[in-house]
Amino acid sequence: MKLLLWLGLAVLVYLALRKNFRSNIPPANRPSESARPNSNQWADEQFTSSTNAKEAETMLSCAHCQVYFPASEVVVRGELNYCSAEHADAASKAP
Ligand SMILES: [Zn+2]
Repeated sequence: MKLLLWLGLAVLVYLALRKNFRSNIPPANRPSESARPNSNQWADEQFTSSTNAKEAETMLSCAHCQVYFPASEVVVRGELNYCSAEHADAASKAP
């Protein structure tokens, strides 16, 4: 009879642990109710970073320093692209 008692106790402890384990997962795993503001902020950050990536999709290499920069900031001298007027001037002055 004692063995049954211990077995039942072990099952109860196992169930209790499992229940605790399961109830511990949802708050950390689902960003639905309580963590809404944070998850929205994160989503906003992701959204802005993805839009930034779209804006920067056309990258050009500076003929002077070889640094890549957005095509919207290009300084064209002759047939070459430069990241800034300073580099365009420096490249045209150089022999
Ligand atoms: Zn440059």
